[in-house]
Parts: sequence; structure tokens; C-alpha cells
Amino acid sequence: MIEQSLKQLAAGLAAKQFSSLELTQAFLDRIEALNPALNAFISVDRAGALAQAQAADAARAAGNAGPLSGIPIAHKDIFCTEGLRTTCASKMLDNFVSPYDATVVARLKAAGTVMLGKTNCDEFAMGSTNENSYYGPAKNPWDCSRVPGGSSGGSAAAVAARLAPGVTGTDTGGSIRQPASFCGVTGLKPTYGAVSRWGMVAYASSLDQGGPLAQTAEDCAILLNAFAGFDEKDSTSAERPAEDYTRLLAQAPADPSKPLAGVRLGVPKEYFGDGLADDVRKAVEAALAEMEKLGAVRVEVSLPKTELSIPAYYVIAPAEASSNLSRFDGVRYGHRAAEYSDLMDMYCKSRAEGFGGEVKRRIMVGTYVLSHGYYDAYYLQALKLRRLIAEDFATALKQCDVLVGPVCPGTAWPLGQMADDPVRMYLADIYTVSLNLAGLPGMSVPCGFGAGGLPVGMQLIGNYFAEARLLEIAHRFQQATDFHLRAPDL
Ligand code: GLN
Repeated sequence: MIEQSLKQLAAGLAAKQFSSLELTQAFLDRIEALNPALNAFISVDRAGALAQAQAADAARAAGNAGPLSGIPIAHKDIFCTEGLRTTCASKMLDNFVSPYDATVVARLKAAGTVMLGKTNCDEFAMGSTNENSYYGPAKNPWDCSRVPGGSSGGSAAAVAARLAPGVTGTDTGGSIRQPASFCGVTGLKPTYGAVSRWGMVAYASSLDQGGPLAQTAEDCAILLNAFAGFDEKDSTSAERPAEDYTRLLAQAPADPSKPLAGVRLGVPKEYFGDGLADDVRKAVEAALAEMEKLGAVRVEVSLPKTELSIPAYYVIAPAEASSNLSRFDGVRYGHRAAEYSDLMDMYCKSRAEGFGGEVKRRIMVGTYVLSHGYYDAYYLQALKLRRLIAEDFATALKQCDVLVGPVCPGTAWPLGQMADDPVRMYLADIYTVSLNLAGLPGMSVPCGFGAGGLPVGMQLIGNYFAEARLLEIAHRFQQATDFHLRAPDL
């Protein structure tokens, strides 16, 4: 059971081949067996999950089942869940239990899903390896001595290890796409505003976006159907009519041997420059060739400001983080120091004890670039670059339907390799952060294996609100390939 895609599991439930209770039990047992080694979950809610599974089975028996009824899922531990702690992988929130559900959580609950637990991530989603977690790093199921990527490392590891068929993640600068690529699963970062940020603990509010990780593009579409869409509780949520993200997948192509006929693939030359590892280049090139075989045509395009996206992102994201994280002061919720002399001392000690090193670094950088005298030199400049980067994409996307490139310059690296070199780690975000600065949607789609048998992801970037199109292209590619079906031996 557990190796099946979410869609297959839904069909199995509908055909009464197994119950949600049996399915949930199977995933809980697998989590119990494998999580000690993988550390993909921070919290597992066995009792809650079994109760939800029973309720889903009862709803189905009564004829009230939807496409996701009884499907076990998990949430990145940055989405608020009523009654189950939400830690953001931080000591600061080790004991925090939210009084309400995030909109994404509430909608998936209303769709009848069963929540297995909360997945590991970098503290407040800051990082690219999951090593900045107060609970220790999640491990890459393909090689436990390597990172699963980050910040949604636990989510990607959980799907790859078949601990859950679908999991939520968040992507501020690559945190869905990069771990999906490192773990060989499919992940989608939606257009900014397509998914509600209500109850998703903020890192950098103008960049953060929640999205699905699953085995297939089709599964991502099914999940997105349940939780995307306008939410009046989020003022940045886009007011658009509800969409069926599976609609293009269901249509049969005119010529079945050329399902991508006429699709123009824009290949940004800056994404294939010097820093790209050979094995990743080869896998992405092979995927491009495969898509050409399926009828797509290749167009060379340019994103000349690509290099500037790293400095722009690493000014804007910390600036917003420093402001967002000021709410953690030890007063209303979160960690409070046991001993202090006065109010200021309580703030200082609570924050010094509650936050980890990378979070403190970002707060300091962010406070610095926003401070009087530096605001113009750094923050304002970064905002100008942000606009230019968005214009780069607008120009490129006029020449093609979708941009195709690597997700990350390399495959999953060994645990600890970059832990002491934050700038080197930031530079590895080169192909992912620019998309968030522009607010565009992007996907990581398994497209091969590199040195040591490590998964490689191909990135697809579309125009605003073109998720359905991206999912369709990914789906056609997945119908012709089997990279997304391969799983590590565990
Ligand atoms: N690696 C990037 C960072 O550390 C992206 C993280 C994310 O998308 N949440 O900020």
C-alpha cells in the first residue's frame, strides 16, 4: 500500500480495497520504524490520526467521501495546527500549541484528510539543509549521511521514504523545490497569493508561499485543489475564481505520441553556467531532450540578473524576518527565560536562549539593512533589483511557455559540509530565490540520478497563476519517465 501514489490510494479507498484506518495504521507503523533514523517528523499524532481515519471511514460508509477522504498526509511544522504543537523547529516554540488551524490545514481537514503529524524543517524555514532544526537534521532517505535539502527537508524525506503520500511545505526562496529535488519527489511552489498564508508562521511575508510535495505532479494537483484559493483572512491572497488544477491533466493530447506538441521550453543560459555540477547538467539536458521527443521545442532565453538574485534575496528576506520575528518576545507565547532582572533582560534572555544561530544571524542582518543610514544603501537597492529580476522573467516568458533548468547546482551534499559556511550555502540557492522575488510559480520534477545514485530535480517555471499548465507539462513528462516512481531501499 504505502508505495502507491496519493491518487492510487484514493482509488483503493473508493474501491474499498482497504480502509482509511488500515492505511493510516500502515503509515504510522512505517513512521515508527523509520523515523528514528530519518528524523523526518517532529511530532506524530497517532491517536489523532486513527480517530480521523475512523471518522473518514464512517463518512465514506455514509456516502460522504470526497477525493481526499481518508488520505493520510502531514504538514510542515510551520503551519499552525489546533491542538498539536507547532514548533517551527525552534526552541522558541517548543511548547507552543496554536488555538487555531492554518487555512491550508483547515481546508485539508475539511477535505477529509488524516493528519499523521508535523514534519521537520529548518528553524523558521531559514536554511537549505534542515540542519538548522532545534530537533536535529532530517536525513536524506537516499543516503542517510546526506542532507535532505531545506527548509522543508522533513516533508521531502517523508514523501521519498513513503512515510506519507503527500505533505505540505513552504517556499520562501526554494524550500519546496530544493528538498524535492534532493529527495527525488515532486514539489510545487505556487504563485504568490495563490495559497493562503493565514496560520503559516511568517519568515519573509512578501516571499513565503505554501505548496504540496508528493510523488507525482498529479498528486500535487489534487492536493492543491483542496487548499489553494482566495482566503479573506490573508490580505495578500489573490481574489480569483476557484480553479481545478487537474483539469489539463485529464485531457487526452491530440497526438498521444507528442503530448507536448508546440510547447516552447525556454532554457535560460545563466542556469547552465560554470557553477552547475556535471551530473545535474546531464540529467536536466536529458530531460530537455525527452521533452523535445514528446513534441516540445527548445528556445534559448536569458535571465541576465540571475547572479544578483542572491544578494537581493539575502537582504530582503532577513529584513522581513527581523520584523516578523520581533513578535517572539517571551511575553505572550513561546520560550521565556527562567531568570531575568527586568523586562528588557527578559526579552534579551528569552530571545538569546530561544533562537538558534542562523535565525540570530538573519535577525542581525535584517535589522542592519533596515537601520537608518543603511536602508537606502541595502534595502532600497535590493527592492530595485527585485523589480529588475521580475522584468527579466517577464521578458523571457514572452518567448516561451515555461522556463526549464536545474533546481540546484548540485545534488544532496553530506551533512555538515556547509554548516560552517553560510555564504556558500546561500549561493546554492541561485536558481530558486529569483522566482520568489518575482512571485512566480515553480516546480521541481524528478528527472534523473547523478553521482552516487542521488536524485536530480528539473525546475519548471511558469507565468503568474500558470500552475495548471506547469502541472500538465510535469505530468506529461512523468507519463513518459519513471524517475518519480523510484524509491530508496529502506
Ligand atoms: N534557503 C533559503 C533561505 O535560507 C530558502 C528558504 C525557504 O525557502 N524557506 O532563506
